[in-house]
Amino acid sequence: MAREARREAQGTEPLDWGGAPEARVPSEGPESAEKVLSRIWGYPGFRPGQGEIVQAVMRGEDLLAIMPTGGGKSLCYQLPALLRAGPTVVVSPLIALMQDQVAALRALGVAAGALTSANTPEETRAVREALWDGALRLLYISPERLALPETQETLTRVGVSLLAVDEAHCVAQWGHDFRPDYLTVGVFRRQMAQMGRPLQVAAFTATADEATRGEIIEKLFGAAEGRDAPRVFIRGFDRPNLRLAFEPKKSPKARILSFVKAREGQAGLVYCASRKGVEKMAEHLTDNGVRCLPYHAGLDPAVRQAHQRAFVEEDGVVMAATIAFGMGVDKPDVRFVAHADLPKTVESYYQEIGRAGRDGLPADTLTLYGFDDMKLRRRQIEESDAPEERKRAERARLGALLALAEAPICRRQTLLAYFGETLTEPCGTCDLCERPPERFDGKIAAQKAISAMLRTGERFGMGHVISVLRGESTEMIEKCRHDQLKTFGCGGEYSANEWRAILRQLYAQGLADINVLNHGEWFVTEAGRQAMRGEREVWLRKDAVTGAGPSSGWSASGKARSGERPPAPTVDPSDNALLQALKAKRLELAREAKTPAYVIFTDRTLAEIATIKPKTLEDLSLCHGVGEAKLKKFGKVFLEIVEQEAA
Ligand code: ADP
Ligand code: ZN
Repeated sequence: MAREARREAQGTEPLDWGGAPEARVPSEGPESAEKVLSRIWGYPGFRPGQGEIVQAVMRGEDLLAIMPTGGGKSLCYQLPALLRAGPTVVVSPLIALMQDQVAALRALGVAAGALTSANTPEETRAVREALWDGALRLLYISPERLALPETQETLTRVGVSLLAVDEAHCVAQWGHDFRPDYLTVGVFRRQMAQMGRPLQVAAFTATADEATRGEIIEKLFGAAEGRDAPRVFIRGFDRPNLRLAFEPKKSPKARILSFVKAREGQAGLVYCASRKGVEKMAEHLTDNGVRCLPYHAGLDPAVRQAHQRAFVEEDGVVMAATIAFGMGVDKPDVRFVAHADLPKTVESYYQEIGRAGRDGLPADTLTLYGFDDMKLRRRQIEESDAPEERKRAERARLGALLALAEAPICRRQTLLAYFGETLTEPCGTCDLCERPPERFDGKIAAQKAISAMLRTGERFGMGHVISVLRGESTEMIEKCRHDQLKTFGCGGEYSANEWRAILRQLYAQGLADINVLNHGEWFVTEAGRQAMRGEREVWLRKDAVTGAGPSSGWSASGKARSGERPPAPTVDPSDNALLQALKAKRLELAREAKTPAYVIFTDRTLAEIATIKPKTLEDLSLCHGVGEAKLKKFGKVFLEIVEQEAA
């Protein structure tokens, strides 16, 4: 087999590692992890949690690391891979993901390769040769390829001793992303152990829940001889660079357009619930001068792929997408994520907004929540034939999402509390911290609304309840003679919109519920009856009533949002010309090298260059993300740009 592969490899060019083969860590004298981080990656330090994981990997420990998206998982196995003998094999679920990682590593001068069905024969030959020669530091393969006997034989022979498993939750049978061949990892590991060749396994995922965690441990690490359970690292879920905001859904297309327009030139994602929604959103944004592409499972695969590549590789593309888009999109400089429709759960919300700001720079998010979305979701739950237990869980999850949407205090505190973490201080970077919602004693309003529901027999939807409160004469009012009720017209101090907001909050606080299986009748819960009897306080948010009509009972504080607040600028505006010039150069180089722009330099690096305006290579090497390979390859070119713009 070895000879065969060598023969196969003859006559091919050596792989291009990006022009700095000396980036291979010299075998004499160990270099510290921090040193390698700075020399190869050009990063000044580890992100929270990374350092200890890197150390554990270097000590040879089996581990499962749970880190949020954008937390920097890849580095945790890539860096140790440079400091050990023998290749590190990375099992990864998606070809595009592997390709991007390999491109990024090569740009750093690291000998990395992937064996995928998308390779050219030359590429495959070169990767195999490097593997047999012991030159390859990182080899990316799919789980399906790992399952092939010849792959396992090769890996055993070339002396692989570390297997990194990316997106390890794919091994979980009941998860959304189950990939049967992920189970091979556990099997292979056991075989190696039986042969007396222990294989270290380091697994990584962003999926936090306990059931998945348990399943990963069992399937990947279970029952291996002579080895203990893996060490588990759970790194906090806070992503402080993401700004959080929710708004009630009103003219969503217009609202998203203004949000996107306020962030012109930035790459972003707009999630919509349906394919049709995606199409319409993309059309609307495009018609208004935004470079926006649609993405959903109904599109031709070639089109879908082209759109994904454009989003990843070009600067400032906006993608309108269903949740089919996301996993395996490694773009670090997504600057915003907007939800035009309500996400499914708090988990999916966090995963989706987590695709913004992986580079650690400020990124903005906006979620529009419509009460109708909520009701629809609720009906889907009730109508499904899932067992009652499951339905109860789903209801609770929806309730958590609603509570987040209508949160009275810091949204990040509410969000992290859901994940079992405590944030002691309000975050300062969510809509509620920036504009703390004024609350008012809503006892009377709640009593009026609840009374209207009770007196109409809890048989009516929101519209009718509000008509009763406001004393409107409608056909239904006349037919049911509800104008005779004591409650009729008792709520004239609030507009219909304001009543809607009040009812929503009563629902969010569990004082009223909706019979979604029938006609959406509102009924009063036990907690609601307590409020009715005055045995319970009710505090309501005033600001939930933005855009209230002119008759607004509290319009003084229902201030309209004044325009848009783009994320804090990272560069002095006067340097904008320089930044633009740097970006243009980056795009040119990326096109030449056929790689995504961020593989050359990230936004953060360019922003630092534009701020620091380095004059020498040494100055430049101090900028974030400028390691020795990139310094050598691109240093002069970018210094010239700085010099030109200064002139
Ligand atoms: P994920 O955990 O989602 O897999 P990645 O490994 O893709 O995250 O890392 C996200 C981004 O953060 C990448 O662009 C990566 O280069 C960058 N990054 C990782 N570690 C550091 C660090 N210590 N300092 C600065 N940037 C880092
Ligand atoms: Zn906050």
